[in-house]
Amino acid sequence: MIYPWQQSQWQQVKQLITSGRLPHALFLHGNQGLGKAEFAVSLANALLCQHPTEDRQACGSCQSCHLLAADTHPDLHYLRPQAAENSTSKKPALSIRIDNVRELCDKLNQTSQYSGYRIAIIEQADQLTLAAANSLLKTLEEPGKEVLMILTSARSHRLPVTIRSRCQLLRFTVPEESQALSWLKASQQGNDASDEQIRQALSYASGSPLSALENLHSVEQQQMLAEAMTAAICGKSSLEYAAKLAKFTKLQTLEGMLSWTSDLSRMIACGPETEIINSQHRSKLKALSKKVNQQRLFRFHDQLNFNIQHASIALNEQLLWENLLLSWDNL
Ligand SMILES: [Zn+2]
Repeated sequence: MIYPWQQSQWQQVKQLITSGRLPHALFLHGNQGLGKAEFAVSLANALLCQHPTEDRQACGSCQSCHLLAADTHPDLHYLRPQAAENSTSKKPALSIRIDNVRELCDKLNQTSQYSGYRIAIIEQADQLTLAAANSLLKTLEEPGKEVLMILTSARSHRLPVTIRSRCQLLRFTVPEESQALSWLKASQQGNDASDEQIRQALSYASGSPLSALENLHSVEQQQMLAEAMTAAICGKSSLEYAAKLAKFTKLQTLEGMLSWTSDLSRMIACGPETEIINSQHRSKLKALSKKVNQQRLFRFHDQLNFNIQHASIALNEQLLWENLLLSWDNL
């Protein structure tokens, strides 16, 4: 997708393509939340499409476009920071390692499956380890014909100069406030954040529209979770929130629930005025703490932890929330 604030960058790239001066490596840099990765994907799609539009964008209907939509195009490769395979930490350090770069460069050295470009998108390229960066350098110095590497980063100063100097730079900037606000309003899709909330979210996100949208989404998620967790004491059924919770990121909602459970345990152990995470809901948590059974609360805590550990397993989310909310109501 080319966002409204990326038009000038798209024009630049389009000119490079039409004049046959597209370099072997592009470095898309600028603040987080400006859609650089999405731009990289759009560019890759446009180059791999067999019948691009007049504006040089992908047609969306040719065989290549179908493969791209299914994420199975053999000439498009992604590299993103990952945790080390042997890491057991809950929040491990992420990096792009030399093995991943070698594997990528091998793929780029093979001939194209569709006799066109072979493209690699390297997201958050500042996370390349030094060894990985050095390994990438070789391919950047002697890329094959019709090879394009698109690197993105919000922290361009962390990318080794040797890498940066071999890429053509494409800078992304924060859009005009009016453009960002009207895009955010149009992207709300049924959410009812006020103009003031939207303006505030944009300002917290330092003007980056995609980060602002994420912030608005997470505020809505927290409000919805609080309503679900306090439905029983407000005389409502929490089950009606199952479908609503299913539209948010599972792991974040589970972690949110865990924070409510921890708050309850802490209040029971240390008294109602103890320090808690969801302090804005203290009075409702107090009411809850008077009715819960500690054994059941511990079991619920375990149930949540189990689901957090297995959050990557796909399952019927509405059923999951119904199950958890039912346990919560019966604590
Ligand atoms: Zn196409």
